Amino acid sequence: MEEKKNIPYKIYLEESEMPTQWYNVRADMPTKPAPLLNPATMQPLKAEELEPIFCKELIKQELDNDTKFIDIPDEVLSFYKMYRPSPLVHAEFLEKALGTPAKIFYKFEGNNTSGSHKLNSAIAQVYYAKKQGLKGVTTETGAGQWGTALSMACQYFGLDCQVYMVKCSYEQKPFRREVMRTYGAKVTPSPSNTTEVGRKILAEHPGTTGSLGCAISEAVEAAVTQEGYRYELGSVLNQVLLHQTIIGLEVQKACKKYGIKPDILIGCTGGGSNLGGFATPFIGEMLRGEADYKIIAAEPASCPSFTKGKFAYDFCDTGRICPLAKMYTLGSQFIPSANHAGGLRFHGMSTILSQLYHDGVFECRAVEQTEVFKAAVTFARAEGILPAPESSHAIKIAIDEALKCKETGEEKTIIFNLSGTGYFDLVAYGKYNDGVMTDGIPTENELEQYFAQLPKAE
Ligand SMILES: *Cc1c(COP(=O)(O)O)cnc(C)c1O
Repeated sequence: MEEKKNIPYKIYLEESEMPTQWYNVRADMPTKPAPLLNPATMQPLKAEELEPIFCKELIKQELDNDTKFIDIPDEVLSFYKMYRPSPLVHAEFLEKALGTPAKIFYKFEGNNTSGSHKLNSAIAQVYYAKKQGLKGVTTETGAGQWGTALSMACQYFGLDCQVYMVKCSYEQKPFRREVMRTYGAKVTPSPSNTTEVGRKILAEHPGTTGSLGCAISEAVEAAVTQEGYRYELGSVLNQVLLHQTIIGLEVQKACKKYGIKPDILIGCTGGGSNLGGFATPFIGEMLRGEADYKIIAAEPASCPSFTKGKFAYDFCDTGRICPLAKMYTLGSQFIPSANHAGGLRFHGMSTILSQLYHDGVFECRAVEQTEVFKAAVTFARAEGILPAPESSHAIKIAIDEALKCKETGEEKTIIFNLSGTGYFDLVAYGKYNDGVMTDGIPTENELEQYFAQLPKAE
């Protein structure tokens, strides 16, 4: 047995230890994720058909089910150095607060201005857009982290950035909007009357506070109708999970360096990018029969794609102009209740994670937002960092697991991904502190009505 090194509170890898390749879990999956379909023909999309929407190199990554490791370009690695390697923190103050024998660690991805892991993919996507000679990119943002990350990346590489921001976030988070504008982005509340699809959604649902699905439709339309522009998405896509594996690869290296053997790995899931990036390097070990871990996805009870959704082909956007993806979905017309403040509002899920979940590789638990904020406050008071509401779904499950260990006396090692910080989520924290936070959980009947509108495809 190798001797265990004394584990510091914060494990920082050296800059020279930063991974130089991303890991593509599809290469190790016995059942590959189902291909994207062209909604007009119901046939798998070919690279050429995606070219009006995405950059060529990113399409290659999107469709690549075979290459296990993909080199991270030097320009991207150079940018990563500004905020990576990110620390793996031994949450000893949280352990003490809970009185648990469990060992709890968290990977902290909030240590950059976007406040989240999203910058890991934004910088890669904008790099490929720049390399292709494009003028700019369009995107949607919900809570605002992705829009901020993309603004930062565009500013770095000198590209124009147009962000469609879900209207309720635009109104609730004016500061987030100003960060994006500071980095030079143009920010439009969605649905807007600047696009055809936006005008249509406004006519059908007057007064809507918007959804990620609506904003995606608008951003895609804006990309395909302007020359030299492409669309970039901050989650869900295979390419995004690929870029995010820098998180899990760093965790693996840090664990190896200090002899840490995780039993349980936890991440929250909106579209699946932080859990995918954090966990797929470990899932790869499972698929290759090298190790076994318990992996838990944490999702909101108010947007329960995995636990209540159907595994079916569906549109990725409300406007139904995007390709069809086979995923766990609540239906493309599903919009989470307006009192849901905790992010993770997307109706669908990564096709990679959907297939892995379908194959029983990991489990998922849905949690209610009042419990999530309670866990967030426990964590903030113990460990000092004010967590993003999204990340707090993972914290809630980590605390549950640590408390189970307290009952059984087991010293399990739990690692969760702290995907970001919550300094722009203070309206939501305010509701929790005032005791007026509620949960808006969809009923089976409501969901049935959305499932009835799923496209027919197999
Ligand atoms: C966007 C975001 C998420 C959810 O998206 P995933 O693609 O599921 O990771 C989670 N946490 C933070 C901090 C985010 O910004």
